[in-house]
Amino acid sequence: MKLQRVLQYTKALLADTVVAGDSVVDATAGNGHDTAFLAELVGSKGHVYAFDVQQQAVEATKLRLAENQLDKQATVILDGHQNVKKYVSEPIKAAIFNLGYLPGSEHSIVTKPGTTIEAVSDLLDLLHVGGMIILVVYHGHEGGKDERDKLLAYVSDLPQKYVHVLRYEFINQKNDPPFIIALEKMKDLP
Ligand code: SAM
Repeated sequence: MKLQRVLQYTKALLADTVVAGDSVVDATAGNGHDTAFLAELVGSKGHVYAFDVQQQAVEATKLRLAENQLDKQATVILDGHQNVKKYVSEPIKAAIFNLGYLPGSEHSIVTKPGTTIEAVSDLLDLLHVGGMIILVVYHGHEGGKDERDKLLAYVSDLPQKYVHVLRYEFINQKNDPPFIIALEKMKDLP
């Protein structure tokens, strides 16, 4: 078996966790690549809730879904992922975050440690036992290292009886390569 690249491994984890009919969350829709991938996995009986704070991202995601006839099984929401509980009340099987900024757009609009952690905490409540939250951590931009460190401190402290936390990272790559944090819920948190 070869070592899977970060984005390849992210997709493999999602594909292994999500089955047709599930509800899932794309916490950072961006250009909608992950939203479309998840919409394929959940099928016409499942649902994807996708969040982004930029109108441009919401439109790009809606367009990608429509072009692939996946729009019926997804809701794209112009709001921050920290407000997930306003829109999602049913249990979810998985959530994905790609932290940082939208490639090709305003670099000042980036995910932030406080709201990212708030969203992860709320998603852990909504997550099925056996479900997974995956964060692809980009940390090369301004503020990225602060978000990375605060997030690592938060997830490292989650009790292992309830959540298994994995860090998947290539440690000899140059220029702040992204890495994965994957949270697998083992038991409902108290
Ligand atoms: N997964 C995306 C794709 O397939 O194109 C890329 C996502 S990009 C790295 C990060 C996105 O997070 C940006 O589009 C940005 O607008 C969005 N974002 C920043 N803060 C956010 C927040 N609080 N809630 C939801 N999205 C946010």
